[in-house]
Amino acid sequence: MTPAGHVVEPLLSDAGLWMYRFIEELYPICRSITGEGVRETLRCIRSHIPLEVHEVPSGAIAFDWTVPKEWNIRDAYIRNAAGERVVDFRKSNLHVLNYSIPFRGRVPLKTMREHLFTLPDQPDLIPYRTTYYKENWGFCVSQHQADALQEPEYEVCIDADLKDGSLTYGECFIPGSTDQEMLFSCHICHPSLCNDNLSGIALTTWLARHLCARKSKYSYRFLFLPGTIGAIVWLSRNENIISKIRHGLVAASVGDPGKATYKKSRRGNAEIDRAVLHVLRTRGPEFSVKEFSPYGYDERQYCSPGFDLPVGSLARTPHGEYPEYHTSADNLDFVKPACLADSLSICLEVIEVLEANETYVNLYPKCEPQLGKRGLYRGYPDAGTREMALLWVLNMSDGNHSLLEIAERSGVAFRKLRNAADLLLEHGLLTGVGNERTSEGGGDK
Ligand code: ZN
Repeated sequence: MTPAGHVVEPLLSDAGLWMYRFIEELYPICRSITGEGVRETLRCIRSHIPLEVHEVPSGAIAFDWTVPKEWNIRDAYIRNAAGERVVDFRKSNLHVLNYSIPFRGRVPLKTMREHLFTLPDQPDLIPYRTTYYKENWGFCVSQHQADALQEPEYEVCIDADLKDGSLTYGECFIPGSTDQEMLFSCHICHPSLCNDNLSGIALTTWLARHLCARKSKYSYRFLFLPGTIGAIVWLSRNENIISKIRHGLVAASVGDPGKATYKKSRRGNAEIDRAVLHVLRTRGPEFSVKEFSPYGYDERQYCSPGFDLPVGSLARTPHGEYPEYHTSADNLDFVKPACLADSLSICLEVIEVLEANETYVNLYPKCEPQLGKRGLYRGYPDAGTREMALLWVLNMSDGNHSLLEIAERSGVAFRKLRNAADLLLEHGLLTGVGNERTSEGGGDK
């Protein structure tokens, strides 16, 4: 059982393990918003799905932003007088302030302390900190490690490069039978952090791999981007695609044991918002919903007013609301295969709803068509029975209500309404919007 109380089907249980193993593979890589760590991560993703890797040079302009210099790190340490590494990048890549400028020298203790970042309230944990847009050097250490530094001076080394290069991102496009698109986006810029970062990458990769192998109505676009700057760069280079994006989801923090959380798009009532809410409600009471706010992950770029795309965000416990967030405790013990699988199954159900959501016209709209003589009426229509689903679809199908809207209004699960619509189509009682004139079933109109 998953935290949401669902029995994980065998496919999903395999998928949960697959995603967890992928997280294990990616965990040791030191990522940042640019550099070799991002490229290596994209190479791992490309071993599973067709991925186009883009390089955008430092200094390139993207709306109000400029692509920063490329950062690469080889080693970093603080050494005591005995020559021992008391803080060692090789033990945890969180130890170096991400995007630190290169630095070497002997540093008095007082200065050393000005370049240390700790979590006094969680003294065993190493914080994750960055200095992307302000040049600085530093180390992130546990409070215990910081307290243990008592010698008058230390030897410091940050063996890194911060120079012109490029920003790297990955894009996987899977064409469907229409050019209307669904977008999935995840960030790829955090170092060894499992839930905030790797869980989203693993889920998005699995989904892309899955959708490569099936036919779909929508075309699917999967973006693997360094947070914020990556989404801004992608949007600035793909304005011609924007009008095709019908739905989108940002996936982040999808592997922890908390309940699922959906953050609505800026529009608040887009089809993606309604589809996710319908799926969550149908699955059970354990979920939460947040209204849009202009903070969080890359949904804030997709939902900026110049784009206002229908892109929501799926997580479990929201960022910043769990003690492991942005610390060394967001590790391989914190994410669980069953929780990853539960998040994935929500995405699969949402895709199923969006793929199958259509609007129909009842071809016998004057009173109810006689279902009994067609063998469609087998008993008293209790709520939720097949008969009730047939009656709802017939009544609401006036060309203005999609199956998802009927599901919301009736409380009948989308899948039951979809099956009912298929049955009604088979019996010539229903037709797709725009097909009324060509249909032969409209005898009693
Ligand atoms: Zn983060």
